[in-house]
Amino acid sequence: MRRELEYRYEGEGTRKYIGILLLFTRWPVEYTRAARPCAQEDRSFEGFLHYLAELEVAQRQRKACQRRLKEAGFPTEKEIADFDFVALPSLNKKRILDLGQSHFISQREGIVFLGPPGVGKTHLAIALGREACRRGYRVGFFTATGLATTYAEAREERHLQKLERAIDKRDLIIVDELGYVPLGQGAAENLFGFFSQCYERTSLIVTTNLPFSQWPQIFGDERLTGALLDRLTHRVHIVEMQGESYRLKKSKKQKEGGKTTKTKS
Ligand code: ADP
Ligand code: MG
Repeated sequence: MRRELEYRYEGEGTRKYIGILLLFTRWPVEYTRAARPCAQEDRSFEGFLHYLAELEVAQRQRKACQRRLKEAGFPTEKEIADFDFVALPSLNKKRILDLGQSHFISQREGIVFLGPPGVGKTHLAIALGREACRRGYRVGFFTATGLATTYAEAREERHLQKLERAIDKRDLIIVDELGYVPLGQGAAENLFGFFSQCYERTSLIVTTNLPFSQWPQIFGDERLTGALLDRLTHRVHIVEMQGESYRLKKSKKQKEGGKTTKTKS
């Protein structure tokens, strides 16, 4: 391939460039793809280099994005585009699309999705997280109990600082299902430590089925909850999602559809 490149792009300094090019990159595969259109357009060597560099940058960005998506640990792939806004008319679609622009992360703001089970809180939290990954932010997804356990394990193994450093590296952390299970005192304290660490440094998305007034039930301590809410509700978008469970509604509709067909036949 070296000879082929040198032949095609003869000129001063070309040999050196090609040497460097082939030495430092993994371009052989792209070369075949890139060389053809360049040759057809009869581009200069600089043009060819520019084309290759653009390809490399695009590929690196794609890989970095895939890495961020993987590192985030999302349990499933959910996107805003797959969300049926008609099913939840009380939800302001424009507001969600705006949040999808990820500005809340650069502003160090948070989001709380509040509503009963099945209305799509986790769906939107994941979807916003994935948008953030695509925009270059580092994200982490945890369930509330999973996060409390991770803290407890790190404390036991004396890796707490390591965990805190890892948390610090994330631009956005999603804490899913806060309130589904009451936390023991240790877990509540660990989560309180986590929320304090994130305060004004890392953006948070929290999903919960419990209104703030019932949060003492989760943390088992009025004062601890008060201090936590004070931190969490500072610069936060509260998105109330009131409605019927999406799946339940869907299966009801299917059943009704089934009944209608039966009556007809
Ligand atoms: P929650 O976290 O509020 O309990 P989920 O986000 O887990 O609810 O939603 C349960 C399931 O229903 C998921 O598979 C989710 O993708 C789907 N779902 C919920 N609401 C919608 C919606 N409005 N449009 C499309 N899918 C939805
Ligand atoms: Mg959920």
